[in-house]
Amino acid sequence: MILYIVVPCYNEEEVLPETSRRLSEKLCDLIGRGEISDKSRIVFVDDGSKDSTARIIEELHSENRLFGGVFLSKNRGHQNALLAGMMTAMGKCDVCVSMDADLQDDINAIDKMLEKYNEGNDIVYGVRSSRATDSAFKRSTAHAFYKMMSAMGAEVIYDHADYRLMSNRALEALSQFSEVNLFLRGMVPLVGFKSTTVEYTRGERFAGKSKYPLKKMLAFAFDGITSFSVKPIRLISVFGIIIFLAAAVMLIYSLIRHFTGNTVSGWTSLIVSVWALGGLQLFAIGIIGEYIGKIYLETKRRPRYIIEKTLIDEQ
Ligand code: UDP
Ligand code: MG
Repeated sequence: MILYIVVPCYNEEEVLPETSRRLSEKLCDLIGRGEISDKSRIVFVDDGSKDSTARIIEELHSENRLFGGVFLSKNRGHQNALLAGMMTAMGKCDVCVSMDADLQDDINAIDKMLEKYNEGNDIVYGVRSSRATDSAFKRSTAHAFYKMMSAMGAEVIYDHADYRLMSNRALEALSQFSEVNLFLRGMVPLVGFKSTTVEYTRGERFAGKSKYPLKKMLAFAFDGITSFSVKPIRLISVFGIIIFLAAAVMLIYSLIRHFTGNTVSGWTSLIVSVWALGGLQLFAIGIIGEYIGKIYLETKRRPRYIIEKTLIDEQ
């Protein structure tokens, strides 16, 4: 069985030496025990890094054939980089494990994932059993995000990031999804096949800073919802109906007031409704605009990533 470990890296020069050391140890151990073939590889995807990440990957590749590299022509973001790596692995491997470069995901969970694969699962999701090392802020925002996603009707695996095992068959299925707005956590469950989860404890970033500041996190969450659900659009219609009904009630009320002779006051309610309706309309237009933006991007069929070069020793 050939295992490919795909690791997207963006400005990760601080962690790469340690990550590569630990991953190659893991791979050698698995190869030594005869669990996987010696054609197994660790593929780092350089997502257009601005530091020496690309050079480190090239060096690793030239020193040790276990290491491979996929170099994107520019920074395309975590999800695109991950997909680039997985699509490169497709056809070359039997199973592919994706993980972050910062060693937050416990690499020993790979053993359990392989076990589950051998039991006949095509997809094994790594799920963190605790978030003790994440900041309280990251923890609560992440949980709010999962809740919101499932309320909006998108199927997501709770507490699963992009640490997962996929069989080659699952990768081939995933390759048929041609959407440009990538949200792999939502797409992989749509692939189907037999799947299961494996728990692991998530540690702290080994070194370097998170590449997901709040701004990116919010954008990611918003993208996740709008790429996977049309519920926000439906909510707008429901809002519209409710407000229309409220307006009808207001009409009756004001007519009664009119005929009973108390019509002078009313400025307050007027100005309030002008603001409320204006806000609501802007909000609604904004959401519709978001979807139109998505349609716009999808219809362009732009490539999700462009690979500058690939260094993988397949033999
Ligand atoms: N990453 C990437 N491209 C980007 C941003 C991040 O390939 O534009 C990679 C990064 O190198 C890391 C993974 O995505 O391997 C997750 O990023 P990070 O650990 O910073 O996110 P967090 O764990 O803080 O959510
Ligand atoms: Mg991280």
